[in-house]
Amino acid sequence: MVCLSKKGDFMAKVYYDKDADLSWLDDKTVAVLGYGSQGKVHALNLKDSGVDVIVGLRRSSKNWNIAEKDGMDVKEIKDAVKNADVIVFLIPDMVQPDVYNNDVKDNMKEGCMLMFAHGFNIHYNQIVPPETVDVTMIAPKAPGPLVRRMYLEGKGVPALVAVEQNYTGNALNIALAYAKGIGSTRAGVIETTFKEETETDLFGEQVDLCGGVAEMIKSTFDILVEAGYQPEVAYFEALHELKLIVDLIYEGGIYNMWKAVSETAKYGGTTRGRRIYNETVKEEMRKILKEIQTGEFAREWILENKAGRPVYTKLLRMEKEHPIEKVGKELRKMMPWLGE
Ligand code: NAD
Ligand code: MG
Repeated sequence: MVCLSKKGDFMAKVYYDKDADLSWLDDKTVAVLGYGSQGKVHALNLKDSGVDVIVGLRRSSKNWNIAEKDGMDVKEIKDAVKNADVIVFLIPDMVQPDVYNNDVKDNMKEGCMLMFAHGFNIHYNQIVPPETVDVTMIAPKAPGPLVRRMYLEGKGVPALVAVEQNYTGNALNIALAYAKGIGSTRAGVIETTFKEETETDLFGEQVDLCGGVAEMIKSTFDILVEAGYQPEVAYFEALHELKLIVDLIYEGGIYNMWKAVSETAKYGGTTRGRRIYNETVKEEMRKILKEIQTGEFAREWILENKAGRPVYTKLLRMEKEHPIEKVGKELRKMMPWLGE
């Protein structure tokens, strides 16, 4: 266990290789449910780390053959979980409750661990496990393919760990052994809770990463086009150049970006950006966070799914039909380096 580790002064508790013992998984079987972005690479990394892995899939899944070709022991979900000590939910969040109720609940053994890579279903009570199992989370902070690449290079991607239920008394040790098996303790595993992971994840994707960025780009584009500028030129300013900026921020932080841009961009950006993100905008962001914290957003999204996703479908169609999509499609043909 490490606080304020040698690797840097963190507020959070961070676990490294020396804090995790793979032998907690000796004589245990891990059932990885799903063989998509995360499932495939968790299964491969665990197997390469010497862990006994079963992959649980639907008989109809196109991933069944792929997993078998990768040398995996593949079973139907209800069979895969029967003798499993750790059951990892790496199937889409919205299908997890049905899979849990239909295939897992009555087949899992007492004292096993249910593990998640995202906290939504546990935090919002869409899956309510009995008290007689451990409930944990290992959430790598990268898409599946990067988790695999780093593992093969002898490195790892950082992950979050959380323990929601500790029936066996060893939940943290077992979860950290799993994190070591996928390579994440090489980079560092940050302790969190299901509540913190779920609420911050939703907030980030709503106001910043997905929702925020999409609206920022479209608004910039729309206002330029409205004012009579050519859509092609507006596309470059509103969307294309964002990559250069994000790369600089990703590699070295926001100040690294400021250092790299022109003096005029520095002055214009620092004086004008704060006029967009003013108190009114921040008040709305706080409201959105409240909706997440109270469960109002979760209820809305769960009901939206039950209703056949009418709003979701409509809004995504509008995104697809936005003029920026059309001009972008043409302009990207001028960029031979894309899609390489
Ligand atoms: P994915 O969509 O890539 O994989 C889905 C897998 O589930 C596939 O094997 C598919 O065949 C199977 N599946 C689909 N529908 C099913 C059903 N009805 N019944 C049974 N199996 C079904 O999923 P993912 O992106 O790897 O996400 C899995 C979990 O990992 C989620 O909880 C997600 O929030 C979390 N997560 C994902 C990432 C990421 O980068 N993709 C990162 C961190 C955490
Ligand atoms: Mg997210």
